[in-house]
Amino acid sequence: MQDIKEKNYNIIIKKSKRKTLALVILPNGQIEVRAPLKLNTSKIINFVKSKSRWINRNLNLINQKVAFKNKYDFKNYSYILGEKRDGKLNYKDYAVNILPKMIKEISLKINLDYNLIKISNSKRLWGSYSNKKVIMINFKCIVLPKKFIEYIIIHELCHSKEMNHSVNFWKLVGKYCPQYKSIKKELTFFDFLLKTEI
Ligand SMILES: [Zn+2]
Repeated sequence: MQDIKEKNYNIIIKKSKRKTLALVILPNGQIEVRAPLKLNTSKIINFVKSKSRWINRNLNLINQKVAFKNKYDFKNYSYILGEKRDGKLNYKDYAVNILPKMIKEISLKINLDYNLIKISNSKRLWGSYSNKKVIMINFKCIVLPKKFIEYIIIHELCHSKEMNHSVNFWKLVGKYCPQYKSIKKELTFFDFLLKTEI
């Protein structure tokens, strides 16, 4: 375990009746190796070593995300469309006033439609689009800078044409939101909000 210690990895090995090795990084940064019962430790260590770049990359990302989250103070401030405001504002009021308007505007602009807008409180999703053409948007979107909300709306409206995440779907998203790849990646930094009381 020499190398592993040098790098300050804290690794838990979980053995079970599985057939293959798997490496998992939990959201708190804990690294877990899932291994078959009879596999010897040196093989497990070699496996972890071979994945060291992947581990470093992901641990860095987790640290970046924690630092990002810590910049927000939801106890004393509010954040509307990416702007910090003094005091506690009612996010749901802002969401109800602003998000449906944005959806209508974008829908008209790109000519993709929906039947109904629902404002949600999901702990998992920023938005969704059902086969009944109900577009659901999380009220917490109101915290995000505009480009993220626009991406989320475009994403959901594109489901009116493609009810999946196929190549064609992403082509369509790219047509209306050329920067979607970087926006989508950046949006994962805000995912903590979904599980945060604001
Ligand atoms: Zn989708």
